[in-house]
Amino acid sequence: MPLTDKFGRPITDLRISITDRCNYKCVYCRTGNEGALYGDLPFEDYLRMARVLVGMGVTKIRLTGGEPLLRKGVVEFVRDLAQLRSPNNGHRGRDQGREGDPLDIALTTNGHLLADLAQPLKNAGLTRVTVSMDAVDPDRFARITRVANGYDHVLAGIRAARRAGLWPLKVNCVLMRGFNEDQIIPFGMFAREEGVTVRFIEFMPLEEGRTWSPNTVVTLDEILARMAEYRPLVEIPHARSETARRYRFDDGVGEIGIIAPVSHPFCGHCSRIRITSDGKIRTCLFSVWDHDLHAQMQRGASDEELEEFIRGVIQKKEERHHIGEPDFVPASRTMVHIGG
Ligand code: SAM
Repeated sequence: MPLTDKFGRPITDLRISITDRCNYKCVYCRTGNEGALYGDLPFEDYLRMARVLVGMGVTKIRLTGGEPLLRKGVVEFVRDLAQLRSPNNGHRGRDQGREGDPLDIALTTNGHLLADLAQPLKNAGLTRVTVSMDAVDPDRFARITRVANGYDHVLAGIRAARRAGLWPLKVNCVLMRGFNEDQIIPFGMFAREEGVTVRFIEFMPLEEGRTWSPNTVVTLDEILARMAEYRPLVEIPHARSETARRYRFDDGVGEIGIIAPVSHPFCGHCSRIRITSDGKIRTCLFSVWDHDLHAQMQRGASDEELEEFIRGVIQKKEERHHIGEPDFVPASRTMVHIGG
């Protein structure tokens, strides 16, 4: 039986947060406190959760946090995940691996520690990496991340990932009005020069500081208009399940993407569930509750009982988010404690 929610959406994409600590304090995410509120679990617990979910139809796993590279043992964990194989999940026609293929194992990082870890992670079986980077100017970068001298580390991390063959390499930039909307064109140039795909993300109300308002969001339309002042863009056809709209520059050099959950929501194609660093399942970034998978393990549940619990949870997956609507209720956790 494929893992499908009550709206018929196949669940194939798992994000595991392996810590809710972070060494950056990005203005759109953190308040500047030191981080861990919920703590983390031994890797063997995440591995069991992943194994059960892969057996149920998950084919993509993304490690996130907090900052996942802060966690000692992350390379060995990737090696263990790389032993898992794609299931026969019954979702034919999607861009999923065939039965028995290795999983797609990705990681989202701020890149600060990536320069030394890129090659070991690749050797361990990591397929792809996404680096978050919100300015291509060192001073602006420091103002957004509230960390001095981070820019050079992140740039070195991006280049090391490329050398290691962690490809395609995506660089995610959250745009927040008043901080970095003037970085749109510089990022277009960066995409072309560094050969990476830069993806702009609309700012969502998931920050600790509760500073979000509709005015702080730099929307897809605005990003496209600004980039067109630099060079014409041509839209690349994309799969319905892809969260990013993709564009290449008219001369074929460089690609950008825009992830627009606020102005162009894609909940109808959401194939994700998340496990927080303390072992709770979250069915939507904007959930107002979690489902305690780790507690089931602690009480001695068998794999079959975990599967039954997970199937029940998946049926509660929210139809869509309500950002910007009068009935919007903030999520019960902020992004750093969910795992983006
Ligand atoms: N530390 C890692 C990193 O920096 O990529 C992984 C965790 S971080 C929470 C995951 C992603 O969430 C990053 O790309 C970050 O930019 C994004 N993010 C954080 N807060 C956000 C917000 N309020 N709206 C949109 N994206 C956000």
